Amino acid sequence: MSSHDYDYDHRFVCASCFADEGIKGFIEGAMKSKECSFCGVAADEPIAAPFKEVAKHINDSLYQEYDDAGNCMSYVSADGGYQGETWPTYELLMDVIALELPRDEDESLFKALVDRLDDNAWCQRNPYSLTYAQETEFSWGRFCQVVKHQRRYFFRDDDKHDREILSPGELLETILDYAGKIGLIVGMDRGVLKVTRARLQRDGEKFESALDLGPPPQAKAIQSNRMSPAGVVMFYGSDQPETALRETAQSLGAGTYAVGEFSNGREIVLLDLANLPDIPSVFYEIPDSMEYNPRPVLQFLHHVSWEISQPVARDGREHIEYVPSQVVTEFVRSRSTETGSIDGIRYPSAVHPDNASYVLFADQDNVAVPNDKRPAFKGDDRWLELVAHTERQVSEDDLRGWKNEFAKPPTDFSD
Ligand SMILES: [Zn+2]
Repeated sequence: MSSHDYDYDHRFVCASCFADEGIKGFIEGAMKSKECSFCGVAADEPIAAPFKEVAKHINDSLYQEYDDAGNCMSYVSADGGYQGETWPTYELLMDVIALELPRDEDESLFKALVDRLDDNAWCQRNPYSLTYAQETEFSWGRFCQVVKHQRRYFFRDDDKHDREILSPGELLETILDYAGKIGLIVGMDRGVLKVTRARLQRDGEKFESALDLGPPPQAKAIQSNRMSPAGVVMFYGSDQPETALRETAQSLGAGTYAVGEFSNGREIVLLDLANLPDIPSVFYEIPDSMEYNPRPVLQFLHHVSWEISQPVARDGREHIEYVPSQVVTEFVRSRSTETGSIDGIRYPSAVHPDNASYVLFADQDNVAVPNDKRPAFKGDDRWLELVAHTERQVSEDDLRGWKNEFAKPPTDFSD
């Protein structure tokens, strides 16, 4: 053992010295010392893990997405060396990974890491293939191109003409497959759902009944909407009245809004894309009990969720721009899952951050009406129940969503 190794044997590092949740998690599972050798913090209980173990974990994790260029990149001296982008260790940590070390004022931790990690010319793993984030982005782009401009309802096997990019059919299957893995297909007991819809009342109009405030009649479904094409009735609502108003109201003083709150009169199943766990970092230690790597799965779902919730201007382009989310929705609606067939999708509101909107697969035949005079028929499924209604004026706050510029994607797909 060199004196160099001996020095590292006596160093420990605490979770607070890192910002990355994956590294913090690793340290918390390996704490042996009551003092951190780097930031100096001390406690009565172990708070710091052996630095050598932490550095080894970081080093091993890096190889999931990066590699030594010597292993995988062609080298042509006459052309200036490696035929692709490479980074020395310090640059990989600082610029590519952007590793945050919140307590490392004297850079001793950073220097120790660079010293301890493999001294590679690092490059992207499989440098001549797409990264997973690129595969996802290109697969979504290909799906949009096909359903907007080529074919919309049926896909052919020969839509698959690139090994690395999902075909439109595969992309749709992957959404439900991954959503099932992460636990996003959720059953909801009767009465648990709370969803509000806002409807503009003009010139003395007053909407109070479940049929007034619920999904529109078929004859009125003439608009192309985010999740449903013209002619297909679905129910759109939001978690909060404020979100419903931001999604609906477009100007002050146009009238008052009737706001209805609905619940579910039977158990339902939702695909919840608004409640996605964060994408774990490359340093996340996958538990033995987990049969898949959650990082690419969540990268994919975050991308899809972001794409289908973006605002679209109603200037005619909505007939094209909403097609991908309409196709995803119809696919979700047509599939039965282990939890049952899906009754709706919850998705992040693009106009009210941290809030969610819903599309429920319900038309007026699914609305429960007190003392219902409508003829009953076999297979009646009147599960959407109005539980409260109120009236609101639109405020500046309610309209704020429309002033938001288009949000940025949740992850950086530029790499
Ligand atoms: Zn520390």
